Amino acid sequence: MKFELPKLNYEYGALEPFLSARLMELHHSKHHQIYIDKLNTVISETPEAQNRTIEDLLSNLETLPESKRTAIKNFGGGHYNHSLFWECMSPNNNKEIDVEIIKAIENKYESFDNFVSIFSDTATKLFGSGWVWLNPDLSITTSANQDNPLNDKMPAPILCLDIWEHAYYVDYTYDRAGYVKNWFNVIDWERVSKRYLDYNNL
Ligand code: MN
Repeated sequence: MKFELPKLNYEYGALEPFLSARLMELHHSKHHQIYIDKLNTVISETPEAQNRTIEDLLSNLETLPESKRTAIKNFGGGHYNHSLFWECMSPNNNKEIDVEIIKAIENKYESFDNFVSIFSDTATKLFGSGWVWLNPDLSITTSANQDNPLNDKMPAPILCLDIWEHAYYVDYTYDRAGYVKNWFNVIDWERVSKRYLDYNNL
């Protein structure tokens, strides 16, 4: 069993003008594909890692041989994190529709704008390459490199933002804050809400 690049639910150009077709194509068909290729290679050399889901591997790294653990965390994280990233975006921003998660966010953060401001601040200030996560309890956390909340045995996150330079440099060069600000226009809140409701059994 080999891991494969997931198809996007939209065209590469569908998130313009916020994320260009060129950026999306490079990020998906090159960066993500390379993580998958490297992951498949290391798994082919690691019997303990075979026939297991990506979630299982990343949540139970201690069950893997120490010599392979870092590679599986890095390349497996690269695969898992990007898969979630694509899933949480679409041209249908639908923030205005009546989705449960918007109400829940307003409850926890006093207002949606305040949530956006805290999340953006966290993303802008994170040093180096990494990710920002929205967890099912609506907490905001960060990780370095391709690490993710599963590595700490936390539940699967419901939304994530890639802040590696490769995620925005083609369109935004050094302006990470501009990238983060525009990314809020392509979050598919209906999908994020579904993840939130599923996890919390609502
Ligand atoms: Mn990336």
